[in-house]
Amino acid sequence: MEITLARYAGFCPGVRRAMRMAEEVLGDPQRPAFSLGPIIHNPQAVEELERRGLRILPEDPEEWEAAGLAGSRVIIRSHGIPPHLAQRLVDMGAETVDATCPTVKKAQKAAMRLVGEGYHLFIVGNREHPEVQAILGHVNRDAVVIKETRELKEWWEGQTRMIRKIGIIAQTTVDLLTFRSLVEGLINEVPEMIREVSEMKLINTLCRNTLARQAEALQLALSHDLVVVVGGRNSSNTEFLRRICETAGARTVKVETAGELDTSLLEGVSRVAVVGGASTPRERLEEVRLLLASG
Ligand code: SF4
Repeated sequence: MEITLARYAGFCPGVRRAMRMAEEVLGDPQRPAFSLGPIIHNPQAVEELERRGLRILPEDPEEWEAAGLAGSRVIIRSHGIPPHLAQRLVDMGAETVDATCPTVKKAQKAAMRLVGEGYHLFIVGNREHPEVQAILGHVNRDAVVIKETRELKEWWEGQTRMIRKIGIIAQTTVDLLTFRSLVEGLINEVPEMIREVSEMKLINTLCRNTLARQAEALQLALSHDLVVVVGGRNSSNTEFLRRICETAGARTVKVETAGELDTSLLEGVSRVAVVGGASTPRERLEEVRLLLASG
């Protein structure tokens, strides 16, 4: 059996940077170290940091008091956080260490610029994702988050005010197919809205590393019988990779670790590709490759 490990394997630059900052913070044993929520969407990597002393603050700020933040350092994860939460941490005596990925920062700035210039902002992405929540926090939640064309129609039907200017950005890790279909959806599926709008401005906030990972996953899916996607269950970019491979017609399985892989799936398979999300350590992919090679 031929096994191909994706070239884009291992942490993306933003996650690498966040992990490096976590190492630095953990290097000062005199000060308690926290991260706000899991620093990356990979449970095994987070557990390792916790073993070394990193404590995870709950997402709900009402629960922060009990953690004792005075004098501590709190890492802001690569997805960023809303400014009012960063301020609240400072007010509680913590020093924030900002590991927000520069690409995510660009998306936050793009959102602020569009809203500041009077555009009605659409964010293509998942409303519950921490990155989207952080972007919303930068624009006082003055934006509509869309994941499906259906939501566009529903939003339009509930509109009472005139919309002249529309701004569009995306969650950085959204896949190109979803982004394209929603931008097209704005024009094709809600023609009444387009009749009213005089200006549409799109700022490309998609992450280049993610796009490259997705393009490679698509190529591998087209040329292999089976694709194993490795990544955290809570990682949306890993889920986007799975969807791309499945849409390309490849048999696709998603696992968090090699131990979850059902090797009976390999029956009759001659070419298998292993790809991983942006927060999946390269070793996890290597472990899957070794398991495949031994089976
Ligand atoms: S996937 Fe892209 S945007 Fe997200 S942390 Fe990594 S480099 Fe930054």
